[in-house]
Amino acid sequence: MAKRALIPTAVGLLLLALVGFGYYHLMVKQSEAFCGFCRRPIHANARVVAEIDGRREVVCCARCAISEAYQEKKPLRLIEVTDFPSGKKLDPQQAYFVDGSRKVLCSHDAPMFDETKHMEPMTFDRCSPGAYAFARREDAEKFVSENGGIVLRLAQLLQGVNSR
Ligand SMILES: [Zn+2]
Repeated sequence: MAKRALIPTAVGLLLLALVGFGYYHLMVKQSEAFCGFCRRPIHANARVVAEIDGRREVVCCARCAISEAYQEKKPLRLIEVTDFPSGKKLDPQQAYFVDGSRKVLCSHDAPMFDETKHMEPMTFDRCSPGAYAFARREDAEKFVSENGGIVLRLAQLLQGVNSR
């Protein structure tokens, strides 16, 4: 009798495991909305898939991944970037990056002003200056004319980073 009772228990446990597994996957999917490095919400048009020291993460922008690689002194590989104007996935090798622009998507804090209404000097932000990717050079140049910065290819963007 005791043996018979084991079967429903086993089935019950299996179901519980499956539900738990599904829930886990859902959470993992949801957690993709937050940067794997800085935990800030990921802007869909700046999303980057990066591999640092073989660990793959979805991150908020290329700059955040580069900061991480610098800080951790680990090799960085960009796997996938996003065309900023369209939000489409883009091969980093084909992309044009705008670096050093005034546009900071990752920061949700309003610019800080002191009593004299002068801008506070910029403190270090791992996502700043933002580096955004573009499929077309024209789009990158248009962005530069509006937000400043310079257009770089992948190799130039990753200069100084231990990239593979
Ligand atoms: Zn980040």
